[in-house]
Amino acid sequence: MQLTALGIYGPYPKAGGHAASGYLLETDKAKIVFDFGSGTLTRLLGKIGDIRKLDAIVVSHSHFDHTSDLVSLNYLMELLPDKILKLYVPKNGENWYLPLLIKGKFEVVEVEENDTERVGDVTLEFKKMLHTVPTLGVRASSGGKSLFYTADTMWFKEIEDYVRGVDFVLADAAKPVGFKGPHMSIDKAELLLKACGTRVAVTHLSPDYDPTEALSGTAIEVIEEGRTYTV
Ligand SMILES: [Zn+2]
Repeated sequence: MQLTALGIYGPYPKAGGHAASGYLLETDKAKIVFDFGSGTLTRLLGKIGDIRKLDAIVVSHSHFDHTSDLVSLNYLMELLPDKILKLYVPKNGENWYLPLLIKGKFEVVEVEENDTERVGDVTLEFKKMLHTVPTLGVRASSGGKSLFYTADTMWFKEIEDYVRGVDFVLADAAKPVGFKGPHMSIDKAELLLKACGTRVAVTHLSPDYDPTEALSGTAIEVIEEGRTYTV
């Protein structure tokens, strides 16, 4: 699997051409985007060229930094008479954007904890996270490899079970130690790394805090915007 960080910032994109949450997962038989914050659409088009190549979008939760470009996507979808895009959304998830999407252009699938879905050669399994609105993390598996995207979440004990045995963890754990709010701080990334034993990259960077220095000397990675990771 290949994972490209289209946008990595929240709750708004950093100045200077950056983007909010959006991650493209690609295999031989599937292209899936996790979250669709502002700037994601232009980055996605830059990467895959044609939106008809995209199989599905997974929305982790309704916050604007994960969903706002869905509205912009409407106009592009309108130009493609034969394309219907699958959209996985959290059940009862305050999905404000759904009434705004052009009818017939999106196949909306409501998912909840422990649901599994198949897109091409990728299996998706959803897990409930701990955030301020209903939020689903997702484990994606294909070809014997797997990744876990925590979406936005605070720390909770079961998350260690969710990442155990996973090859790559993309974690909302870029906040400074002592941070009070609905995200994880960088010390939680250490716990996730212990639990998975493989690879953790922290994401959902604040525009005004770069955790790179605080994480130097550890095996934790800070996600790089635009970079493609092989899982
Ligand atoms: Zn959020």
